[in-house]
Parts: sequence; structure tokens; C-alpha cells
Amino acid sequence: MKAIRVHEFGGPEVLRLEEQPMPQPGPDELLVRIHAIGINPVETYIRAGTYARLPELPYAPGNDGAGVVEQVGANVSEFKSGDRVYTSGSISGTYAEFALCKKEQVHPLPAKVSFAQGAAMGTPYATAYRGLVQRAGAKSGETVLVHGASGGVGTAAVQLARARGLHVFGTAGSEEGLKLVREQGAHEVFDHGAPDHFQQIMKATGGHGVDVIVEMLANVNLGKDLTILAKGGRVVIIGSRGPVEINPRDTMQREADVRGMILPNTPPREMASIHAALVADLENGTLRPVIGKEFALADAAEAHRAVMKPGATGKIVLVTGSKK
Ligand code: NAP
Repeated sequence: MKAIRVHEFGGPEVLRLEEQPMPQPGPDELLVRIHAIGINPVETYIRAGTYARLPELPYAPGNDGAGVVEQVGANVSEFKSGDRVYTSGSISGTYAEFALCKKEQVHPLPAKVSFAQGAAMGTPYATAYRGLVQRAGAKSGETVLVHGASGGVGTAAVQLARARGLHVFGTAGSEEGLKLVREQGAHEVFDHGAPDHFQQIMKATGGHGVDVIVEMLANVNLGKDLTILAKGGRVVIIGSRGPVEINPRDTMQREADVRGMILPNTPPREMASIHAALVADLENGTLRPVIGKEFALADAAEAHRAVMKPGATGKIVLVTGSKK
């Protein structure tokens, strides 16, 4: 099979397409024929060697994929060969034509959801659900600001929040992004490139403030986020690319919380609960992952460049060209 491998940390060019032996599933594992692969920013930090936890070299990247079960291990009764599935993790890496997965890393993909859409579930939708529901405890009737709503996690958070009866504000940095965020269900949209967008958001709440902020770029926004929170407000930090200065006093009158999260820290039972909810919402049509760009597996380097560029319009995926 063809698979991307990384032999040295560095720029996107270290993502090399190679011929690899076909993995064989152990008793509790499955082999998935991959049709589409989700590209996540974290995979660029790992590839560059700048992430806190790095794999041993050489390594095979990728957690998120969607395709069809090729083979199951002796103890796997939940799936059979031919089932459509998405993955939320992989033993052998998903930037490949086939991926070996543990059974808890595989979830059913409803027939009406495309493989490219399935590749958006494992990290972005699970992160959005973990952040919005489990960490922030967002409740229907509350107001949520999805700060960075045009990318993989942001579009997911907007759809999830809207379906749960929240009043949803979303931001983007381009006209196309703003239009997309509105289409995903945001009641109001704001340009995060406009210096006065915090004042605009505060005004849109009638001076009350927002109850929850799902934050994609905390190193830029956290200080100001704290000034537009309602009493009892929560900021969930999903993305941050550096340090930031805050005034702790901004949390005091409001009794506000700043809550960090990192998806791999989710306890197994809560992770299973996340995917049960996501599959149900795919089935009932509430969740409709948006694909911004598609690249061929051989062009993984291009996809890594694209995911770090501004002007997001949904999820970036690789496709393997598999027809089965
Ligand atoms: P993505 O698809 O590349 O989207 C990035 C988003 O950030 C876009 O909506 C972009 O908007 C927005 N952004 C750019 N400048 C911003 C600003 N000044 N304020 C607010 N948002 C801004 O990436 P993703 O997959 O959605 O991931 C988003 C972030 O979360 C990344 O940093 C990623 O590493 C992190 N993440 C963390 C976890 C975790 O477990 N904690 C899991 C998944 C992702 P425009 O392009 O429209 O400007």
C-alpha cells in the first residue's frame, strides 16, 4: 500500500509517499481501507518537530480518516468487512491507503455522509463537542462566541451549538469565511481581523456579555475575551500559538473561568460518549461537515501548507482515489 512517512522533522517536504507493507489486524483491531483523510494543524506542529509530544522517527502521520472496513480481528464483533466508518486515531497512521485501528478508534459512518465529511469527525468535531459540551457545559439559551468559526473545529462548534439551542456568534477573517459561518448556523458573524469586533460582540449581547467562548487563538484573544464575558462566563481554550497577557481582575467580578483542553486527555468513557453523540447527529442530519479543500494523498505537503494559511473555509482533506 502507499502511505506517507516522515523520516526527519522539518518543512512540509518531509512528508514522503512510500510503498509500505499492508498492516495485519490483531484480535482487537481493524484494517480500514481509507478513502479520505483529515488534515489537522497539530499534524504540522508534529511534522515540524515543535510539538510537546513527538513520535519516534520514522513515523506515519494521521489520526482522522474515513473509508470502508477491509478486515476485522477475531474479537471485533461491532464491525464487519464492508462497513462504512470514520476513525478517531490509528495505530499505523491514516495518511495512507489502509490504516490499522483499535476498535474504539472506529465509528460508523451513515450512508448519507461522504467519506471526505467523515474525515472531519475524529479530531475537529470531537474537539468541538468536548470543548462546548463537556468542558464549557454550554446550555441551551446561553450565548456562545465561536472565536475562529471558519475552520474545521469552528464550523463543527457552530453546528453543534446551534442544534443545542444556543445563541451563536461566530468569527472569521475573510468574506468567504463569514458567509460560511452564517450558513453553518451562526445568528451573527464578526470579522476577527477588525480591532473593534469585541465591542461589536458586546453590543450584540445588549451589554450582557457572552456566556461561553470557544477560543481557537487564545494567544491573540484571551485578554480581550475576558472583558466580554457575562457573569459566570467560561472560556474554553482550544487553540493557542504563544503566550498572552491577561488582567486576572477581569475574571473576578464575573466569577469567570478559563478552561483548557486537549482532546487526547479525554477519558475513554467520555470519548465514547462524544462519538455516540456525533454519530447520532450525523444520522439525524444536524451535523454536515464542510469540506474547504481536497488534495491527493501524494500532495500531503500542499495540504500542510494550506492548513496553516488564513482564510479557512471548512476542513482540508486528502483523498486516496480508492473506489472500493
Ligand atoms: P483550521 O481549520 O486551520 O482553522 C483555524 C481557525 O482559526 C480559522 O477559523 C481561522 O479563521 C481562525 N483564526 C485565525 N485568526 C484568528 C483570530 N485572530 N482569532 C480567532 N480565530 C482566528 O484549524 P482547526 O482544525 O479548526 O483548529 C483550530 C485551532 O485549534 C488550531 O490552533 C489547532 O491546533 C487547535 N486544536 C486544538 C485541539 C485540542 O485538543 N485542544 C484539537 C483540535 C485543534 P480565518 O482563517 O477565517 O482567519
